[in-house]
Amino acid sequence: MHELVIEGRFFYSKKIIHGSIAVDGKKISAISAGSLKGERIVRLKRKEILLPGLIDTHVHLRDFEERKKETVESGTMAAVHGGLTAVFDMPNTRPPVADGKTFRKRLRSFAGKAYSNYALGFLVADNCSEAMEAGADFYKIFMAPSTGGLYSENFEADYSCSPGAVSVHAEDAGIVKTDPTRPPEAEVKAVKRALNAARRLKKPINICHVSTGGALREILSSRLPWLSFEVTPHHLLLTEVDYRRNPMLKVYPPLRPEVDRRALWENLSRIPIIASDHAPHTIEDKAAGAAGIPGLETEVALLLDAINRGLMELGDIVEKMHSNPVRFFGISEMGLRPGAWADFTVVDIGREWVVKPGEFYSKARWSPWEGRRLRGKASRTIIRGEVVMEEDEIVSKAVGVRLDVEGSGHKGDL
Ligand SMILES: [Zn+2]
Repeated sequence: MHELVIEGRFFYSKKIIHGSIAVDGKKISAISAGSLKGERIVRLKRKEILLPGLIDTHVHLRDFEERKKETVESGTMAAVHGGLTAVFDMPNTRPPVADGKTFRKRLRSFAGKAYSNYALGFLVADNCSEAMEAGADFYKIFMAPSTGGLYSENFEADYSCSPGAVSVHAEDAGIVKTDPTRPPEAEVKAVKRALNAARRLKKPINICHVSTGGALREILSSRLPWLSFEVTPHHLLLTEVDYRRNPMLKVYPPLRPEVDRRALWENLSRIPIIASDHAPHTIEDKAAGAAGIPGLETEVALLLDAINRGLMELGDIVEKMHSNPVRFFGISEMGLRPGAWADFTVVDIGREWVVKPGEFYSKARWSPWEGRRLRGKASRTIIRGEVVMEEDEIVSKAVGVRLDVEGSGHKGDL
């Protein structure tokens, strides 16, 4: 008799099968095409499909001195509402997570308050000795000023000394300082510089929010096995025309011409990671020109909607929001297999709904897709065997824990 059995359809070995998953001690203990006996049974609905837990590798949860914009609680509630079981927390907070003391403070602000699992980033900008000691889960380098302002004056040195996987915001500082429109060349130039360093240093690097066809072509032709990159749903679905109509869509890197958006779709199969770059601000801060778009509560739904429109497949979501993040960052014990943590995203592929940011958990209170009718939605989020979100309601306490990311050297929560 298992502690918990989930019955229904699930995405297993690239196919949708009907069967049962048993959970004991927060981990998957058995997977069967038949039925299994459980003390508790969760029966999925006919339209629901269980996926391995989806991970967003690029999220700004604010907190600290910016609790008006978002907190660990509100941001991770938004994450599980959107169907994510884990988020990667970006360190350009106020104050930034750029020294050991602030990193430990960041850990404390997550412990017991996070609804989703999490990995914590450390901002590297001429602070190598601090980076070496912090024991962060990943390292973030800004090549140009962005939200928070702190950026790397010497990218190669900071990348070289980072003791783990690096996520890089690649825009050229010289160009963005003289041209506030942050033109495509700013991204292409910085990406070329990052690729040159990656070729030489041969260490894991993840280029964030690639938005231009030019940068994409540079990356794809480099063929470095230790290289990953992210694309956001907003760069896949919106263009500069949308931004001209709605100044709230200001974001770094900016929304691009249709030709760039199309380049992303044409190379969809070669995009390793889709991540939201969830960047919440208050409405007042947005009106004053803050850059950033919230995305945690729409990204999975937008991708499911894209599946319903024939633009991608369920396997793409699993690959780009689970398998590749797990592999690139080295997250332990994840996946649909016995022995892995029981972290699941359940989606209702046929569910129609209208985006109403007033019903969201994020403090951002707006969405580029407000009023849009979408088909497909995350219907339950299950973390370590605990149903955390069900039909838009948060139904558990904050059960999120720190992910075990290879190389971070930590064991346990604090
Ligand atoms: Zn970001």
